[in-house]
Amino acid sequence: MFSPVTTLLPQLYEKSFNILVVLDYGVLMNDLLAQFRHRDVISMLDFNRDELEFLFRLTDRMLDSINEYRDLLKGKVLAIAFFEPSTRTRLSFESAMLKLGGSVIGFSSEESTSVAKGERFSDTIRMLDSYADALVIRHRYEGSAKLAAEIAEHPVINAGDGRNEHPTQAMLDLYTLYRLKGGIERLSIGIIGDLKYARVVNSLLYGLTIFKPRKLYLISHPLLKLRDEVRRFISSKGLQFEEVFDVNEVISELDVLYVTRIQKERFPDPLEYEKVKGSYRVTADLVRRGKEDLLILHPLPRVDELDTSLDGTRHAGYFKQASFGVPLRSALLALILGGLTSGCS
Ligand code: ASP
Ligand code: ASP
Repeated sequence: MFSPVTTLLPQLYEKSFNILVVLDYGVLMNDLLAQFRHRDVISMLDFNRDELEFLFRLTDRMLDSINEYRDLLKGKVLAIAFFEPSTRTRLSFESAMLKLGGSVIGFSSEESTSVAKGERFSDTIRMLDSYADALVIRHRYEGSAKLAAEIAEHPVINAGDGRNEHPTQAMLDLYTLYRLKGGIERLSIGIIGDLKYARVVNSLLYGLTIFKPRKLYLISHPLLKLRDEVRRFISSKGLQFEEVFDVNEVISELDVLYVTRIQKERFPDPLEYEKVKGSYRVTADLVRRGKEDLLILHPLPRVDELDTSLDGTRHAGYFKQASFGVPLRSALLALILGGLTSGCS
């Protein structure tokens, strides 16, 4: 199933209006609710600014008073189909669903399913679709979530398809910037690491084409540069960015440094990995040369690219960021699986 993104009553929405104000008119609320209901979440490109700000607003609510919604998804079942490893994404979806009174079924590795016996992906999806009200899929192949969405009647959420996208991670990354920095437009953001294979980077960049930070630095080893098609796309959307090979050149300008892990599992050639292994490391010494309130984010898991000595410092935003996964995913599930009415604003 696929619901096209419709534009929100443009005559009622002026740029100068803050979405929160618009919502208080109660006019757009029902439209936004309708746009999310039964919707697939495959790519960040499927979402517009109003929808994301609405999602963030509901996430705030989930963070402050999730108890009010504890029966919202009673009787609903979420199927989690993870053909690739995960800790945070899977557990935060599970926790989000349970907190809203729903139930969860599923598997977290291919080995434990009939896929290991050669079952077709499409058969697995069809079966899960008949057992559940929504599906969350992670798979090593790009396009797998989109394919699942074409097969399933129920909504499908992409929890990572190969090196392509991980939209709910980007939603929670953008929410973290809202929550911890009060907005995105004024920020200078550096994204460092594996810009070639990290799907979280693609989704985050697609999200940033909507919110347009003041300055964006893409920092990587030359072999880990952004892929051409992604670079072309974000340029075409007017996102201003600079590609940098050495973080030292820009560290003093950054408000946010988003660190990523080298995606070893996605390298087609192990020799290519050997060339870039250990090529960057965010340390206390580097951060000391940055702004007082430099915020460091990381989607996790980390390997050696982000020093643990930073964990206890005011710069470390990554655990907070991971903790927002539950309220953000609760808000998303609440919107997709229904149950919310405009009375909850
Ligand atoms: N941050 C990733 C995720 O949420 C890695 C992990 O799951 O451990 O899926
Ligand atoms: N957890 C994120 C992902 O699944 C980032 C990572 O694995 O490095 O894409």
